[in-house]
Amino acid sequence: MTQKFDTQIKAFMSEIQSKNPNEPEFIQAVYEVAESVIPFIEENPKYKDAKILERIVEAERILMFRVSWTRDDGSIEVNRGFRVQFNSALGPYKGGLRFHPSVNLSVLKFLGFEQIFKNSLTTLPLGGGKGGSNFDPKGKSDSEVMRFCQAFMTELSRHIGPNTDIPAGDIGVGGREIGYMFGQYKRIKNEFTGVLTGKGKNWGGSLIRPEATGYGVVYFSQEMLKTKNENLKGKNVVISGSGNVAQYSAEKAIELGAQVLTMSDSSGYIFDPEGIDKKKLNFIKELKNVKRGRISEYLKKYRKAEFHKGKTPWNTPCHIALPCATQNELTKDDANSLIKNGVLCVCEGANMPSTPEAIEAFHLGGILFSPGKASNAGGVATSGLEMSQNSLRLSWSSREVDEKLQNIMKEVHESCVKYGKQENGSIDYVKGANLAGFVKVADAMIDQGVV
Ligand code: NDP
Repeated sequence: MTQKFDTQIKAFMSEIQSKNPNEPEFIQAVYEVAESVIPFIEENPKYKDAKILERIVEAERILMFRVSWTRDDGSIEVNRGFRVQFNSALGPYKGGLRFHPSVNLSVLKFLGFEQIFKNSLTTLPLGGGKGGSNFDPKGKSDSEVMRFCQAFMTELSRHIGPNTDIPAGDIGVGGREIGYMFGQYKRIKNEFTGVLTGKGKNWGGSLIRPEATGYGVVYFSQEMLKTKNENLKGKNVVISGSGNVAQYSAEKAIELGAQVLTMSDSSGYIFDPEGIDKKKLNFIKELKNVKRGRISEYLKKYRKAEFHKGKTPWNTPCHIALPCATQNELTKDDANSLIKNGVLCVCEGANMPSTPEAIEAFHLGGILFSPGKASNAGGVATSGLEMSQNSLRLSWSSREVDEKLQNIMKEVHESCVKYGKQENGSIDYVKGANLAGFVKVADAMIDQGVV
């Protein structure tokens, strides 16, 4: 099917490349969507005539600003801040803030673009956006992080609001950073509103929001496994990352009877042949979230484990792989090694962690593969639930939120199956997620006229 539309896809991508030079991550994200959506548009001319694809790849607004702040020793630092307000056809812009030295416009445009489809898949009324800074929280004191967050929010506060744009966390932005930014927003605007999600539990945050992305990834993988009459019990799971998404993916996988063998950070991965149980996971949470240490320190306590410096965990034999660190962390060679070792299911927790060649290898190998925009949608969905609770001025119990999250992940899975079921009965989750996400946004854009 895609081959038949090769010419149209190539022509479209060549336009994207010339308009967005030096933005490889953004071009990669657009290509993945264009491959699924162009054949569909060719057969549904109303989307073609309304130039929906040409419009959807152009952000509604991009803000870029200076963030100056002072180190503890009095020296001055200058970082760059961004907010990409990509698409508001379905609701106010919604998407995380990333603080990492690798942040640039290409990375945030790719993330903002993916967010449009992800948010559409959640069934909640949320548009797509993303933002952040090339600020590196690593090695900074709490006061330095606070001063940076305040300086960042001083500018960002002009452009966001509970009905306009509601940022959340992402890499390098957790509860601490959300707290500092919320404090500054409140000070500037003199109002207490749900302008950020991922807030503290006792001041407007939703129960289960910290857990939601990781739990959602595992709920989604459960749905994928069900299509092959399989489940997580007794399965070996390989996870990359040791941050928010990785920790709670591990927690839920352990709860459902799986054995988690690896976790990682940017310095390498740990392999525990006896499995990372709840107690060991609590050690990792304390190490990463409180002490802000390195994953290699796991070996100081658990001596049977191995640390593989500078490596990713994809050579480890497993049934299920959950990439939960960052973009393009799983290559074609990694995919082939996972397939050779008998992987059943690869469910992305991070955004775009698999390269296009790796995805192709999974498809050719007949592996259950889900893109992050479907399987990690539980995070933004629960942010949507936090917004509802803030508007209603009430808080739901953990059980209520968790039930809603499970239902949303089931619905996201059903949407992927609806649009991604192939003639041979297999499910192309990439195509399913892209088409299901696209149709809803595209219809809303048509209804709202040429804007
Ligand atoms: P965290 O900052 O909590 O953790 C990130 C983890 O990934 C850390 O272990 C970090 O290691 C590792 N990592 C980051 N960059 C690299 C790199 N270049 N190479 C190797 N490892 C790296 O972030 P989250 O867990 O929140 O986010 C992880 C992924 O999940 C991202 O792709 C994010 O966009 C996605 N996501 C997050 C959501 C959320 O709700 N938080 C929602 C949906 C998607 P180190 O500590 O060494 O930097």
